[in-house]
Amino acid sequence: IEKIQEAALNDKVVFSFEFFPPKTDDGVENLFERMDRMVSHNPSFCDITWGAGGSTADLTLDIANRMQNQICVETMMHLTCTNMPVESIDQALNSIKGNGIQNVLALRGDPPHGQDKFVAVEGGFACALDLVRHIKKNYGDFFGITVAGYPEAHPEVIGEDGVATPEAYQKDLAYLKEKVDAGAEVIVTQLFYDTDNFLKFVNDCRQIGIACPIVPGIMPINNYKGFVRMTGFCKTRIPAEIMAALEPIKDNEEAVKAYGIHLGTEMCKQILASGIKTLHLYTLNMDKTALAILQNLGLIEESKISRTLPWKRPTNVFRV
Ligand code: FAD
Repeated sequence: IEKIQEAALNDKVVFSFEFFPPKTDDGVENLFERMDRMVSHNPSFCDITWGAGGSTADLTLDIANRMQNQICVETMMHLTCTNMPVESIDQALNSIKGNGIQNVLALRGDPPHGQDKFVAVEGGFACALDLVRHIKKNYGDFFGITVAGYPEAHPEVIGEDGVATPEAYQKDLAYLKEKVDAGAEVIVTQLFYDTDNFLKFVNDCRQIGIACPIVPGIMPINNYKGFVRMTGFCKTRIPAEIMAALEPIKDNEEAVKAYGIHLGTEMCKQILASGIKTLHLYTLNMDKTALAILQNLGLIEESKISRTLPWKRPTNVFRV
């Protein structure tokens, strides 16, 4: 968190990488190898997700502690309230505290599989705000707390038409402010592809007095099916020109990846041009697209990172 605050003050661009816990032991070891390579590019921090419904609790803890102490990267662990009585939350926090991790992304979490509404577990918390307050009250300033922000509003308040009502959006923003007022120092956003809307969200946050850094969550498009699945799940708005660009190439994996690099680069350029100095990359445990974007932006040294061909706009088909 201090690195992000410092970057904003010193006009320096910083970036970070998010990973998720792989399903197999081999997957975990492969992830560590990849992480080690990615960390050599000097991210400000790396974070590891907490599987939906607390499904990866032990593994997330283990990976987080190894990231901090073996990979030696500033680590942020995600922590959700789903299926987590307060004692389990404290066990997790004490485990990372003992391992020197000082950054937590405090989340409510989604309802467990098969449920559509979030219900607090007995002896647990009902929302991220409760978790932020708990961490502040019981751990003082030991942890730097980050929270989630939603440029298009939280999916639960997005209607059938794909948008939240202005009232729901404002309520969501006011709630985000409560999380910050309770002690969160950084906001990382949900993935988005409408950069203008993200910049409007930042402005809306500033208007209601949210002053902390707001870090854009960038998910490079790696493949078409994954993109459609993720954006469907998160109810992400996709500008028409992006769909138009993807449609003719959706079955060509290399072309989609090249477009993903192009799009990610352009989004980041627009964000950086607006004065925001932090980029958070949802890597999905893959290195090529994220590193290629950073390379295009001149943020990491030229290397043999990307063998993907540069994206070229097919003539007379569509405009991006
Ligand atoms: P909250 O901040 O509690 O908000 C949830 C919704 O409830 C919002 O609409 C909010 O406005 C509303 N709300 C809650 N309390 C109040 C109140 N008192 N007053 C008014 N409105 C209220 N999920 C995982 O399972 N694991 C992860 O590792 C993970 N990482 C994530 C990382 C990021 C950056 C983001 C953006 C999301 C992540 N998620 C993760 C998904 C997240 O858990 C879900 O989006 C979840 O549904 C909401 O979590 P939250 O912390 O935003 O919830």
